[in-house]
Amino acid sequence: MVHLDAVVVGAGFSGLYMMHRLRQRGLSVQGFEAGTDVGGTWYWNRYPGARCDSESLSLSLSLSLSLSLSLSYSYSFLPELDQDWHWPERYSEQPEILKYIEHVATTLELRKHFRFDTRVKSESFDAASNLWTIGTEPGDQVTARFLIMATGCLSKPNWPAIDGIESFGGDQFHTGQWPHSDVDFSGKRVAVIGTGSTGIQSIPKIAQQADQLFVFQRTANHCVPAHNGPMDPQAESAYKARYAETREKARHTISGDVVPEGYLTIMDLDDDALERELDRSWGQGGFYTQYPYTDLMTSYEANERVAEYSRNHIRGRVKDRRVAELLCAKDHPFAAKRLWADSFYFETFNEDHVHLVDLQTTPIRAIDKRGVATSERHYEVDAIVFATGFDAMTGGLSAVDIRGRDGESLRDAWRGGPMNYLGLGVAGFPNLFTVTGPGSPSVLTNMVSPIEQHVE
Ligand code: NAP
Repeated sequence: MVHLDAVVVGAGFSGLYMMHRLRQRGLSVQGFEAGTDVGGTWYWNRYPGARCDSESLSLSLSLSLSLSLSLSYSYSFLPELDQDWHWPERYSEQPEILKYIEHVATTLELRKHFRFDTRVKSESFDAASNLWTIGTEPGDQVTARFLIMATGCLSKPNWPAIDGIESFGGDQFHTGQWPHSDVDFSGKRVAVIGTGSTGIQSIPKIAQQADQLFVFQRTANHCVPAHNGPMDPQAESAYKARYAETREKARHTISGDVVPEGYLTIMDLDDDALERELDRSWGQGGFYTQYPYTDLMTSYEANERVAEYSRNHIRGRVKDRRVAELLCAKDHPFAAKRLWADSFYFETFNEDHVHLVDLQTTPIRAIDKRGVATSERHYEVDAIVFATGFDAMTGGLSAVDIRGRDGESLRDAWRGGPMNYLGLGVAGFPNLFTVTGPGSPSVLTNMVSPIEQHVE
């Protein structure tokens, strides 16, 4: 059996950086990756409209209105590459991000340390030798002292448990396992189930092709406008001139990004002043409406004022008042769930061929050969897109049979919830490390920042 210093599972942003750091230290490392190439999230999530809502270049105005700029969704450990790299838009599309990751893998010669098309099935710790034995799907085994699970927070797709799901006779897609070949919905009747960040990115794109589109919404969420557009060349060069300083600042923020944080108290403002302030932050787009306010997440009253401002934007954009109300989140505070960053999502519902199905009042009963049945009617469709998210945070880990000291499985150890240390390590599983594991800031931040911090 091959013995190594370390095994890294996953070749996304986390796994690649981990591999680089371990190789720099001269350790013998083998990486395993289920996909055919590097990229992780950005390899699997190729659905139409897939892009990052952390900004390639974010423009942040501090209170003094001095300009500070941050290039955020890329590795900070490669500053020379950041100086050379050009991101064409404010928010990068999936192909652009994948191109960047592939470039890093090529430049740092990381691919040769990974075995692709290889899924890790089992990992067990032997207390006598202090070694992990790692077994892959083809049946190979290696041993290693350190085992790093760089398997991501959102890597195991959630196929919902809907009766008859396997009986559908048309095309079925999950956004998190999108085909590598082009998918054309032209002339088709399409159902999209799920309206999270992924659904709201893909729905406007699918609507451009589909003949009829039925959007099945269970829960509306609060939104902020993305205000995407081409990269501003002046902003880009200003940012590059202040690169080191901005990157350093980002490491000390809540979001892992340079966004103005906590400088205004909503309840100190009267209605007119609040309207002016929200017009300003809303106008900047992205998450600039989430972080500036000290009481947004501590006062229901303050939060509701922002939530209502957000709802009024939807009401102003969606012509059908009933549909507009259904698209307004009312069951949870603004930003209590990850916000939607919207680009033309709401306007899509002004198209005659786009229909919103409210699952609160008419829940899905079953899927059959010809389509989707709710408690109210049957929707005959040619294709179903599941934008139903992931078995989040623990899914990528629980997919592997991980056994620590005394043969205890991680699934059993976490039966009452994922207990760990800072999202990095788990008692009873020596030398097993997770990158951005459960309980760490991870997806609440610009992901690359916590990934780098954990790897380091
Ligand atoms: P998600 O936020 O978990 O949304 C899943 C959607 O599917 C929800 O609307 C959910 O409804 C619905 N759903 C799940 N099971 C269902 C069922 N049985 N019947 C009907 N509806 C069902 O997943 P996601 O949109 O893929 O996003 C996951 C995370 O990925 C985000 O929070 C974000 O961190 C990340 N992401 C980021 C970006 C980006 O731009 N950076 C883009 C996409 C995703 P309920 O709300 O009622 O459960």
